[in-house]
Amino acid sequence: MRYQFKAHLTAEGDLYHVEVIVGYKKISVSCDCEAGRMKKPCVHAMGVLRGDRHAFSQGDMDGLQKHLAPTRLGEILARYERETAQLEKQMRELRDALQKRHTEMEKFLRDGFPTD
Ligand SMILES: [Zn+2]
Repeated sequence: MRYQFKAHLTAEGDLYHVEVIVGYKKISVSCDCEAGRMKKPCVHAMGVLRGDRHAFSQGDMDGLQKHLAPTRLGEILARYERETAQLEKQMRELRDALQKRHTEMEKFLRDGFPTD
């Protein structure tokens, strides 16, 4: 089964096309935005899979969601979102720690290194 959606998600009003193919044992999704063409998890593809209705002007979202409900997709998306949120938090903490080290070294270079 093939589902097609149109997404308007940019300030410039660009129109993207998202397609979901629900096959026998596989769900395929594609989007023609820049990230989607590079097979990255773009907001449009993720939005369609999550059933984010208001972001799409055309497409049978009810039909797609009914089709996806019995699959493991919800579980896979939830795990992806949980793990990426956790990794992004760790990256922020590492970036802060790195910045702190740089700031400390800048202070030593500016004011001198302690000798004791
Ligand atoms: Zn996209």
